[in-house]
Amino acid sequence: MTQSLTALLHRLADWLGSAPATAVLTGAGVSAESGVPTFRDAQTGLWARYDPQDLATEEAFRRRPELVWQWYQWRRSLVTATRPNAAHHALAALADHLSDLTLITQNVDDLHERAGSADVIHLHGNLFDNRCFTCATPYTRPVGDSPSPPDCPACGALVRPSVVWFGEPLPEAQLDRARFAMENAALVLVVGTSARVHPAAGLAVRACERGARLVEINPAQTPLSPVADLCLRGPSGPIMTELLSLLREGA
Ligand code: NAD
Ligand code: ZN
Repeated sequence: MTQSLTALLHRLADWLGSAPATAVLTGAGVSAESGVPTFRDAQTGLWARYDPQDLATEEAFRRRPELVWQWYQWRRSLVTATRPNAAHHALAALADHLSDLTLITQNVDDLHERAGSADVIHLHGNLFDNRCFTCATPYTRPVGDSPSPPDCPACGALVRPSVVWFGEPLPEAQLDRARFAMENAALVLVVGTSARVHPAAGLAVRACERGARLVEINPAQTPLSPVADLCLRGPSGPIMTELLSLLREGA
């Protein structure tokens, strides 16, 4: 950790210590150190010739439901083989040090939960949940490694993964909760997201316009960087670990 990064972390620890409410927004970068590929470098092996933009849509599922289902089954197996990393663990432990913390993620994986975070708001759905493509009834039976989508017991239509596809609206209840948390936060911490996917990124911008402090943790510059009060440049695992130890010391 460089000296200047450590100084910025001390400032962030002070801000967190005095913020009555904090909202954290995470993206695919938080899971990168666990080995979960981001969309941009996800496609390997059999799937290399497909573009996620052509698989993660209602249109694709209508045309080739088995292909789309199998792609999700593959992504499920990738995530199942990974483990939460230091950033997931530090974010879960942060809850013990802050009075009011809301964790919002754009990730569809379950690594925050597996690290011990409770009540995570999943803006883009959950990779391991399923629902009917037609009547939206949740499908809760185990699907194992079945290569074909099951039929909905309620209406007979095909079952799909319960994630947000390109062009689809975000789940309203989750979005409302995220909005509420962002509107009430004195500090918004944005970790590992390119901040190019809306409305998630817009929530952070609006919080900042309303006067919340905005802090970004990302090795790269993003559209949020120019409006952020603090940018911590680096991977989230070591940065979050250091931040947690500062909070534990009461720094
Ligand atoms: P993104 O792929 O657009 O951006 C990832 C960001 O993480 C980049 O800004 C990158 O600089 C940063 N990053 C890379 N390594 C990092 C590290 N070690 N620590 C911190 N940051 C790091 O991801 P996004 O902003 O979440 O948006 C993409 C969309 O893809 C989302 O809608 C999401 O639902 C979906 N997606 C989710 C997963 C997942 O659930 N793990 C995986 C792939 C895609
Ligand atoms: Zn149905």
